[in-house]
Order: sequence, then C-alpha cells, then structure tokens
Amino acid sequence: MVLLTRKIEFSASHRYNNPAMSEEENRRVFGKCNNPHGHGHNYTLEVTVAGEPDPVTGMVVDLADLKKLLEQEVMRRMDHRHLNFEVPELAGQIPTCENVARVIWNLLEPKIPQGRLHRVRLYESPDLFADCYRNGAGRTGGAS
Ligand SMILES: [Zn+2]
Repeated sequence: MVLLTRKIEFSASHRYNNPAMSEEENRRVFGKCNNPHGHGHNYTLEVTVAGEPDPVTGMVVDLADLKKLLEQEVMRRMDHRHLNFEVPELAGQIPTCENVARVIWNLLEPKIPQGRLHRVRLYESPDLFADCYRNGAGRTGGAS
C-alpha cells in the first residue's frame, strides 16, 4: 500500500460561539475567538489517499480527479467564506479546526475516485492542526 497526499490552501473566517451558553461564558471559554465579528485563517488541508499504484498509470489516484474533487467539495464551499454562515454542513456546529476537518472528511470520503481516503489533516495555523482517520477522530458510523 502507498499513501499519496495532496495539499491545498484556502482562506476562511469563523467565530466560536455556543448559543446555549451565556455571552460571558462564551467569552470565558473561547476568549478572542469569540469576538463578535469573527476572524480569518489561512487553512492548509492535506488529503491522503491510500491504495496500490495502478499497474498502467503508476498512480494511487488520478491526480486530476483528486484536484477536481478538492476544488468542488472544499474550495468552492469554503474558500473566502464565513464558515459560521455559508457552509450548510457546519450549521449548528462550532467551526473549530476539528469540526471543519470532520466535515471535509465526510464530504470527500464517499467520492474518492480510486483508493480510499486515509487521512484528512487540516492546519488552522502552522502550529495547530486536526486529523481525521477512518477509525478515529470524529468519524461516526460507516467506519471499517
Ligand atoms: Zn480562529
């Protein structure tokens, strides 16, 4: 088995706020991430596909297909968006690095054209990232 990783970058804004908590509680728990008008990040996403290289092409997954999938599912949906308001898949969730990574996993996993999705790693900043794996972090149901 070989692991192939493709990296893309996108920019988005978000705000951490839980409507079930008071304003004061939100400020205490989320600090400046709770500032009312949100703030932006330059996200780096690494998508890793596992599989056997195709005997004809030598590829685990067709790179053009993977690029198209990331464009369609991630860039169009999240790039230059406000994650709290513009991404329906995140509705009702606090758009933390963890939750955004899980949403991206769930968007990509059923559509990987060859091989299988092995890991989604989302960097919110150079020193903070969240990982989603098939059997791990945040995968609910359908795990194998
Ligand atoms: Zn933030």
